[in-house]
Amino acid sequence: MISFTGVSKEYGGREVLTDVNFQVNPGEFICLTGPSGAGKSTIVHLLIRADVPTNGMIEVDGANLAKLPPPILQLYRRRTGVVFQDYKLLPDRTVEENIAFALEVCGEPDEVVDERTAEIMDRLQLSDRADAFPSELSGGEKTRTALARALVHKPGILIADEPTGNIDPDQSIHILNFLRQVNSEGTTVILATHDRSVVDALGVRVIRLENGKIVRDSIGGYVGEATIERREIVKEAEKMEVAPEAPAHQSRIHLHRGTHVPKPRGGSHHHQKKATHVEEAPEARPSDEPPTTGTSGKIKPIAV
Ligand code: ADP
Repeated sequence: MISFTGVSKEYGGREVLTDVNFQVNPGEFICLTGPSGAGKSTIVHLLIRADVPTNGMIEVDGANLAKLPPPILQLYRRRTGVVFQDYKLLPDRTVEENIAFALEVCGEPDEVVDERTAEIMDRLQLSDRADAFPSELSGGEKTRTALARALVHKPGILIADEPTGNIDPDQSIHILNFLRQVNSEGTTVILATHDRSVVDALGVRVIRLENGKIVRDSIGGYVGEATIERREIVKEAEKMEVAPEAPAHQSRIHLHRGTHVPKPRGGSHHHQKKATHVEEAPEARPSDEPPTTGTSGKIKPIAV
């Protein structure tokens, strides 16, 4: 269990996180979202204890992260896999060496290092790039290498900061699919992203930050409030065994909390065709379903 209680963070006297409160249960999949500069990476840094809050407390399994003694902090970091926005791959090591290094520093025996490194490279389709250096990799390959390195020691928590930021949509689908598999195997996943299509594709719990404050914490797509309202409508419709009509106020596609209503990207046509989705608790999701846009587990796509 991860718990943020009254967390604020200042840099140079400027508050970039304000009274942040949330809890993450073991096995949850969370999208931490919000516009650039909202504070997502700051939360990631606090979570990996690269920094400590100015006020408030972050607890993991009841222990205050800011006060963990060094040996316990080391254990915590080994329990936590991280994918950084800029990958942080070691430039003078190959893909295989970068991944293996994460196990070597844990003191694992060579045979375990070799076996687990080969296994995760296979899962992430990196085996034929094992001898390549980071400078020789595509964005997708770098992301997969960073993911492999984060997961090779089988962490309980995976934190990924914009892992789809530098890759094309096809690659993103693979990465999201993989993250869902990892989550279904029991790893808690915290995914920071400002990408609307990623949030929609996953349909999991969304914690949205704006100007360092949480403005939303609910399950659903990017347009969360609409999704949740719609879930109630669909439940009612299911009882009646008829497809629900979209209420007039929901035919607007860009429902959005706050005063800012984002303009459609890539043309409104696409968005008007988009389905609204409804889902049950994240743990009810089957693991092997690809996260094509707007499908997730027991989600029922309903054309708007
Ligand atoms: P996001 O990840 O949502 O884009 P960040 O957490 O990176 O947002 O940044 C939130 C705010 O905190 C920004 O205004 C950013 O400039 C500021 N910030 C982040 N890290 C630092 C730092 N080390 N020093 C000063 N300001 C920082």
